[in-house]
Amino acid sequence: MGDEETIFGKILKGEMPSQEVYSDEHTYAFRDVNPAAPTHVLVIPRKPIPKISDISEADAELMGRLMFAANKVAELEGLKESGYRLVINCGAGAGQTVFHLHVHVLGGREFAWPPG
Ligand code: AMP
Repeated sequence: MGDEETIFGKILKGEMPSQEVYSDEHTYAFRDVNPAAPTHVLVIPRKPIPKISDISEADAELMGRLMFAANKVAELEGLKESGYRLVINCGAGAGQTVFHLHVHVLGGREFAWPPG
C-alpha cells in the first residue's frame, strides 16, 4: 500500500495541513480533526506502516520511539498527573479508518472500561 494513498502520508509531506504537537526524526504528532476527548492527538511513524499487525522485528526500535513520542505528547499536553489513554485500532473491524499506523493519545476526561 503506497503511503501517498493515505491522508497521513500527505500530512507528513506537507500536502495536507495539520496542527503539530510534537515532531522528531522518526515520528510526528498532530491534533485529531474530530477529537473524541479534550486532548486527542495522533502519533505516527514517518515510515508508512499501514497497521500494527504489519510490523516486523526490524520495526522494534521504531515502535519504542512511537511509544516514547506518545508519552512526550502526554507530558506536553499536561496529562501526566491526570492519566491518559493510548489506543491503536488495527483493521477496519476494530475501527481503523486511516491505513497509516497511528497511536491515539486521549486525555482530559474520564474513560470507561471496557472501551466501546
Ligand atoms: P482510526 O479510526 O483509528 O483509523 O483513526 C483515524 C483518526 O484520524 C480519526 O480519529 C479521524 O478523526 C482522524 N483524522 C482523519 N483525517 C484527519 C486529518 N486530516 N487530520 C487529523 N486527523 C484526521
